[in-house]
Amino acid sequence: DSFEDCELGEIIRNNIALSKYTKPTPVQKYSIPIVLGHRDLMACAQTGSGKTAAFLVPILNQIYDKGPGQVPQQQRQYGKRTKQYPIALVLAPTRELASQIYDEARKFAYRSRVRPCVVYGGADIGAQMRDLDRGCHMLVATPGRLVDMVERGKIGLDYCKFLVLDEADRMLDMGFEPQIRLIVEKNGMPASGERQTLMFSATFPKEIQILARDFLENYVFLAV
Ligand code: AMP
Repeated sequence: DSFEDCELGEIIRNNIALSKYTKPTPVQKYSIPIVLGHRDLMACAQTGSGKTAAFLVPILNQIYDKGPGQVPQQQRQYGKRTKQYPIALVLAPTRELASQIYDEARKFAYRSRVRPCVVYGGADIGAQMRDLDRGCHMLVATPGRLVDMVERGKIGLDYCKFLVLDEADRMLDMGFEPQIRLIVEKNGMPASGERQTLMFSATFPKEIQILARDFLENYVFLAV
């Protein structure tokens, strides 16, 4: 019952220690080995369960495995402007949740070459685009603003190897299914067998089961 049992690399172990997490929560304990084993995951977990680190830790660790100096930097340069191709994408229903995930991603990305960014609606898109121009390996986004960024040619999904849908039930309740399907099924996102997909949801109703069937491949089901 320790993060030391999880076969994590040095950067992520140091950053877990800095964040003062000593013992994994149940969802972390079970999800970290599943995600490190390259499996897709459908996890039923509540807010407050530690689900954010349950996906950030094993995804960042897999990116770091390539070597801290070798994080693929996918971007196209157009003068001062860029188009960014994040390796990892985390979708969240609200600005508040996206900001919390981003803050935690920054902690776990400390002293690595991985640069997280966050975009959400209701805030200045120009400032978010300028921040993206500094590089974006992991993007945390609300669905509507991400569709906007993709349609403006600011974000490409073609190299996205890790996809997370956090609080999937809330995203559907808020009417984001069309935007989510645009992101996952169109616009160049690698097919389910060529990316790793994780879904987190507090509940598991029919609509979430359908999304899991459509987006996940041979997934592990976890309820904590
Ligand atoms: P989450 O469910 O991801 O929103 O996390 C809920 C709260 O628990 C956040 O404030 C985290 O910083 C904290 N937390 C997550 N995992 C751990 C852990 N293993 N040990 C201590 N605190 C944690």
